[in-house]
Amino acid sequence: MNVVQLRKLAYDEVAKCSKCGFCLPSCPIYLVLRTESASPRGRNAVTRAVIEDRLEWSEDVEKTIFRCLGCGACTVACFPSIKTRDVVFKDRECLVNEGFYPKITEKLAEYLETKHNISNEDNEERGDWQELLGDLPEHYFEKERAEVVYFVGCVASFFPMAQKIPASMARIMEHAGVDFTVLGGEEWCCGYPLIGAGMPEKMTSLMEHNLRKVKETGAKQIVFTCPSCYHTWKTFYKTDVDILSSAEFISGLLNEQRLHLNSLEAKVTYHDPCDLGRNSGVFEPPREVLKALPGVDFVELPNNRQMCTCCGGGGNLEMVDPELSARVAQMKIDEILKTGADTVASSCQQCLRTIATRARRTKTTLKVKDLTELVAEALA
Ligand code: SF4
Ligand code: SF4
Repeated sequence: MNVVQLRKLAYDEVAKCSKCGFCLPSCPIYLVLRTESASPRGRNAVTRAVIEDRLEWSEDVEKTIFRCLGCGACTVACFPSIKTRDVVFKDRECLVNEGFYPKITEKLAEYLETKHNISNEDNEERGDWQELLGDLPEHYFEKERAEVVYFVGCVASFFPMAQKIPASMARIMEHAGVDFTVLGGEEWCCGYPLIGAGMPEKMTSLMEHNLRKVKETGAKQIVFTCPSCYHTWKTFYKTDVDILSSAEFISGLLNEQRLHLNSLEAKVTYHDPCDLGRNSGVFEPPREVLKALPGVDFVELPNNRQMCTCCGGGGNLEMVDPELSARVAQMKIDEILKTGADTVASSCQQCLRTIATRARRTKTTLKVKDLTELVAEALA
């Protein structure tokens, strides 16, 4: 991407900005840093200045553009609904082209090309989460053909803190008698981190491989516990297989009365993951699931649904600036604690990691759980 292409794709968008500032209180990065360049208005102004040849790509521009969570909250607050997130991702493509980008993202691209996962691990180890389960079937949930493919995603496969999510999802599907499979070492990263890194052209081989492997199973549905994989498949993958988030899938199982549940005693609030809620429009299914759990006292966050504040884990920020990511997570935890909930549920392994890591570091007695964990705990 170069400036000529950026002008075509983004100029009309950023030119709509009246500089009113309504987006400022919605941007978690602005709320933490309190500088104009850290705001959506500032990012749009920087983009416009580069397009109009009043500013050059530089390290300062890189800092402004790579410190955005891609959460999309600014668009909701903005009268002309300027898609700052999309503009930022296009800016990143230009910055990569000009050599201004966090060098850690180069490693990420290398790992995805050679190992097909973000962790630079042997891809065959994607099934390590199965060790959390007793009584594994002989096929280890890796069947050649099945009605449903469960796409686990890199973070839940390789980060120990998140491995309880696939273990819980597998338990739920087993309990309900779902004919499902996972792709194991044949599951490759969905490619989403490359969009945040400004290198979307490198996604093609990952997408082609995943589409081919899912097709070989003959599955009619594919289920995701990772909202970013889900969002990426919905937006970029061309397939006639039904794409479902875990919340939608579990809500369907509940409606069909295929889950038998015991009572849990918990006061639970729900954090909408940006890529599931605001960026994909899935707001009600996770709430339906939580409200169906016996013994759960459900309470909303003050900023919920479209207005939900990012946990700090989006847009590759954790990789680029972990300290800033942690400060956003602290802001999130402060909001959660005000509700009086003892548990925050989300439906995303990255939200779980970001919030739980910060809660542990600050010795906060808040339980951070994925929706699948709560459902699995309630299974009779
Ligand atoms: S996408 Fe999120 S982090 Fe980025 S400018 Fe908008 S509100 Fe701020
Ligand atoms: S709310 Fe929209 S129009 Fe107003 S400053 Fe922010 S981006 Fe510009």
